[in-house]
Amino acid sequence: MAINVEEISSLIKEEIKGFKNELEVANDVGTVVTVGDGIVLIYGLKKGMLGELLVFNDEDYGMVMNLEEESVYAVLLKNSNKIKEGDKVKRTGKVVEVPVGDALLGRVIDSLGNPLDGRGKVEYTKTAPIERIAPGVIARESVNEPIETGILAIDSLIPIGKGQRELIIGDRQTGKTAIAIDTIINQKGKDVYCIYVAIGQKNSTVASIYEKLKTSGTMDYTVIVNASASEITPLQWLAPFSGVTMAEKWCQEGKNVLIVFDDLSKHAIAYRTLSLLLKRNPGREAYPGDIFYLHSRLLERCVKLDKKRGGGSITALPIVETLAGDISAYIPTNVISITDGQIFLTTGLFNRGQRPAIDIGLSVSRVGSSAQYKIIKKASASLKMEISNYHDLAAFNQFGSDIDASTKVILKHGSVLEEILKQNQYESLKTSEEAIYLFAAKNNFLDDLEIKDVKPFLSSLYRYINDFHNELIEEIDNNHILSDEKINELVEAIASFKKEQSLGNGN
Ligand code: ATP
Ligand code: MG
Repeated sequence: MAINVEEISSLIKEEIKGFKNELEVANDVGTVVTVGDGIVLIYGLKKGMLGELLVFNDEDYGMVMNLEEESVYAVLLKNSNKIKEGDKVKRTGKVVEVPVGDALLGRVIDSLGNPLDGRGKVEYTKTAPIERIAPGVIARESVNEPIETGILAIDSLIPIGKGQRELIIGDRQTGKTAIAIDTIINQKGKDVYCIYVAIGQKNSTVASIYEKLKTSGTMDYTVIVNASASEITPLQWLAPFSGVTMAEKWCQEGKNVLIVFDDLSKHAIAYRTLSLLLKRNPGREAYPGDIFYLHSRLLERCVKLDKKRGGGSITALPIVETLAGDISAYIPTNVISITDGQIFLTTGLFNRGQRPAIDIGLSVSRVGSSAQYKIIKKASASLKMEISNYHDLAAFNQFGSDIDASTKVILKHGSVLEEILKQNQYESLKTSEEAIYLFAAKNNFLDDLEIKDVKPFLSSLYRYINDFHNELIEEIDNNHILSDEKINELVEAIASFKKEQSLGNGN
């Protein structure tokens, strides 16, 4: 074999350069000046990088946050009280990385990939840096496939597409987490990887979510990243970035990923705490000036990639908590403007028993309708308008004035629609159920029923169609579309069931 001198010399040069770098990193040692609240001021580390992993006394880890002329500020990545003034700090030359890949499935981990479920070490083979530049517009494709939430109100009125970022926003205890968890459970058998990132939650809440996901077989395709309220602030701030890094790995392999950030208000508070401790300038509501950039660079990483890049997607459901329904506060407006729509939940609706408590008027999905299944799109075409008409009239009707017959019809139809949009937690609907419910309502088959009879009627209707027109149900669930003739057939089937029922009741 001929030896190419030039090739060899360039290889040697590369090696020497690498060695020089390593030597430089090894010689660049800093000294702890002050330590407290998880923040360390370090003198030295002349060439430290932003986000670089640091080692204290060979056992504790930290991350560079502020670069100053003579010193750097770092945050600790573990709650440690061993670090003291004068300790030596070493660089690693690497930014902070987290484990990625299939070994994470079924696990509950902290922001750095350490196990929290008592099931031993996570046997990962690959890691990836927590910060990465989001794919540009050229790499992206428009959203064209729905993510099925199994929640009728969302799938029909606020459809979400794979690769979309849809905010779930509302006051505390309005069912925000319930929507996200139901959506995760509904991905069973649909080849979607799920990541639930819990930020600043109670450990007991996360534990009960884990139990629920485990017993329903959902953990087989799910990871929980938990940075609870009792965790140190830096880990709460890191959690969503760790989660999205894990999602990116699968997305690059052409897979579909669903990630839930529960919730970004607590994330913003963690970042505000860190920033104030790092002596960065406070701005509006004492949040640091780059809080918008923090959330936008996180959510920009959620994409629908084009075919050339494997066609993978990351769908994000960030959650934001409001105070007294104020969606014009700082963090809510930021995240609303970053995402592609929002599902707005209100305490009023929740307490009235309208659950999920979605305010149809204020909720929107800016891109999802192009991804909605044709059959659902057809069945829910006029739904939003009918509901808002009903709300207008219902508000007027509160004055107790006499109402004419046509108004009565609209009011009754509206209350039927509200009823079919009520759905309990953990009771996901299949596409065929959603379509049949919507067609029954759309064609006014429910308007003469008492409200309490609507749900039982729909259940037996579905059973009837399943028994006698199973091919329609199969076609809806497999192809998500019906030809006009088949839709007529379906409507006729609903009509004949309705007739049977009326006869049975002696009407
Ligand atoms: P928090 O602000 O505390 O995080 P949250 O907005 O995430 O609350 P959840 O924890 O999801 O709200 O729900 C609050 C309560 O309402 C829970 O007890 C849950 O079981 C119940 N709930 C949520 N959605 C529904 C629903 N569709 N039907 C019936 N109950 C529901
Ligand atoms: Mg919650």
